[in-house]
Amino acid sequence: MNTFIMPADGLGAVTYYVIKNMGQNCIFGTVVGFLDNIKGKTKGAEFCSLPIEVPENVDKNAKVIIASGRQEKRFMQQLKELGFTNVVNTDGIMTPDNAFKAVSQIQADKIEQKYGLPSVENQVRGFLVDFGSEKTSLTVEYINFIVTQRCTLKCRDCCALMQYFSNPADSDIETINNSVDSFFSHVDFVRTLYIVGGEPFIFKDLASFILKISEYRTRIGCFMLATNGTIIPKDDVISALHKADVTVVISDYGTLSKKKDVLIELLSSAGVKCETLLNQKWYPMQSFSDKISEPEEIFRECGIACTQVMNGKLYYCDFAGFGDALRGFPYDPENSVDLFSSGTSKEKIKAYIERSSALPACGYCTGARVTTQAIPVAEQVSSPLSYKRYE
Ligand code: SF4
Ligand code: SF4
Repeated sequence: MNTFIMPADGLGAVTYYVIKNMGQNCIFGTVVGFLDNIKGKTKGAEFCSLPIEVPENVDKNAKVIIASGRQEKRFMQQLKELGFTNVVNTDGIMTPDNAFKAVSQIQADKIEQKYGLPSVENQVRGFLVDFGSEKTSLTVEYINFIVTQRCTLKCRDCCALMQYFSNPADSDIETINNSVDSFFSHVDFVRTLYIVGGEPFIFKDLASFILKISEYRTRIGCFMLATNGTIIPKDDVISALHKADVTVVISDYGTLSKKKDVLIELLSSAGVKCETLLNQKWYPMQSFSDKISEPEEIFRECGIACTQVMNGKLYYCDFAGFGDALRGFPYDPENSVDLFSSGTSKEKIKAYIERSSALPACGYCTGARVTTQAIPVAEQVSSPLSYKRYE
């Protein structure tokens, strides 16, 4: 039996190694490749030395294992619509023991470096964190809390749309603190929570915000902060990072990340966990489209999954959140969930996050599936790019 794993990323790699370790005659079949919707990854591409295909091009009798938390429902529906009948998730495949054995092999084979992946170990920790225990009623796979729209860099292809901001603003500390309380009043557990910007080390109230989130630390698997390695944080921030057991993830953009070495040294000496993302590969991601499209068409082929909280609202993706802040599409309450509304509930958040239908914003977006070519990483623009603004 030919088996594919979807998508081609960290959890997919772990699933592949787990099955490979089961050896000949494994009931999950022979893994012959990966499926992924992002065309840039699929044209002649390979992952873990196997080909990556788009689902449309594969025999619909093949078995497919979905190795994704949040996107599981969506991929299942997509494959069902395409006519696949043998689609399963990783239940019964991944256990803590076999997954961490696979992580060690992935690290030994340098898979993360080769494919520019974030820490597979952390992904597995987040994925398996409530394994074996009774599942909490609302577990969120991944959430970004946005502390600022300002960044020290202006990358032309920033998926957070920094390249379009003329007047970027910091979040209001009272609003984001209240957002955290409101979010955790509905959500029982978060597998991976990131503090991001822009560049979060710009944010003046960062130390107190980290400590605010840490009030919920036992309900967070991996607590991370993403930085571009251009700023050295103040002592109170370093101490808060340590106290809250935050892992700092540094995107290494070569000479642009000019403080990264000092930062790594400082974090290590303070006992703060730190990872560096080297050799990243970028593909054109979601951005403003030149034309307004049918939202479902764009959503169906979009491979994005980075829920965020900004200005008291929960957004499905960066484009919905930052695009809303930029007024890059007409205001529509369906694009977000208002965390301060009395009508917001656990059920509403779950339905919004695990959706299998488009947001109104998708009609104004290119979606994350537009090219077959990798693009230069962190190429800078000198002034904000133009876009159509809707008042
Ligand atoms: S460093 Fe570049 S990619 Fe990262 S937030 Fe800033 S502009 Fe965006
Ligand atoms: S707005 Fe829709 S199409 Fe664009 S990134 Fe978000 S989910 Fe994808």
